Amino acid sequence: MDVQAMQEQLANIKILKDERLSKYTYTKTGGPCDALVFPTTTEQIQQVVRYANDRAIDWMVLGNASNLIVSDKGIAGIVMILSEMNAITVNDCNITAQAGALLADVCQQALASDLTGLEFACGIPGSVGGAVYMDAGAYGGEICDVFKEATILLADGTLQTMTKDQMQFSYRHSILQIEKGIVIDATFALAKGNHELIKAKMDELTYLRQSKQPLEYPSCGSVFKRPKGHYTGPLIIEAGLQGYQIGGAQVSTKHAGFIVNVGGATATDYVNLIHHIQKVVKEKFDVQLEPEVRIIGRK
Ligand code: FAD
Repeated sequence: MDVQAMQEQLANIKILKDERLSKYTYTKTGGPCDALVFPTTTEQIQQVVRYANDRAIDWMVLGNASNLIVSDKGIAGIVMILSEMNAITVNDCNITAQAGALLADVCQQALASDLTGLEFACGIPGSVGGAVYMDAGAYGGEICDVFKEATILLADGTLQTMTKDQMQFSYRHSILQIEKGIVIDATFALAKGNHELIKAKMDELTYLRQSKQPLEYPSCGSVFKRPKGHYTGPLIIEAGLQGYQIGGAQVSTKHAGFIVNVGGATATDYVNLIHHIQKVVKEKFDVQLEPEVRIIGRK
């Protein structure tokens, strides 16, 4: 695609050509995208989407890239990052956050406002947009538990307010995984709580996360969805795969549900290791592990 022509047309928007996405992903892997675009307003996102649609150019949004494996060959077309759209506002018991806000910052704002309900999410390293797209969850809570509504930019560039029912949330799933759309902002309905209790819960969950997860290495969190009737980590351990390594990608020795980049891993290493784990676990236990992490980009 002609990125220079795009920049001339969308002169007020920051666009980087052939930017390597390994600079942005949590795994520190991934090749370049044709155009990496940083809109700062909803109108700018609409301009980008209309520009792309008119020319049949593929487009997508990255959140905080904490649940992604981007192909070493990169991504064709336009990738948008909404990190500059990160405002958080509190209205009584509701918190509205723009898609680029970090979930952790929304949780801190909830704490500062003595609002309870989002404690479970305080250590999830995603953005609001990514958390809604994934129906992120932890320690018994999920985004859908507190979700009130979201502003969604549909594939044709129009805006729609979507309710919880319309989002069709289920385990690590929302309608956005089927019908293309961009989360612009989301409103979470919380309840008045006790500041000390909210803080104590967040501290407890942060401690649990730090003691159980290999946060000292790049990773994309839990690689697989929890299969019905099983836990992923124990299955991988029983399959003899803890510590197994392909290239720089290793099944974490601290938490077998994670694949860590122990140095120089490529996206191909990640994908090969995922396939290997799936194959061995299927052969040994007849359980099909389904990736939670999104594997995207050129084949
Ligand atoms: P990304 O990884 O950037 O994107 C994920 C998907 O969301 C992509 O398909 C992307 O296109 C889409 N997306 C992003 N923003 C938007 C938007 N504005 N509009 C439409 N689509 C969008 N997850 C959990 O659920 N629970 C956990 O406890 C948890 N722990 C983790 C711990 C670690 C150390 C790591 C690295 C990851 C963990 N994750 C966990 C995974 C990840 O943080 C979540 O899935 C998170 O919700 C992803 O958000 P993101 O902004 O990083 O999305």
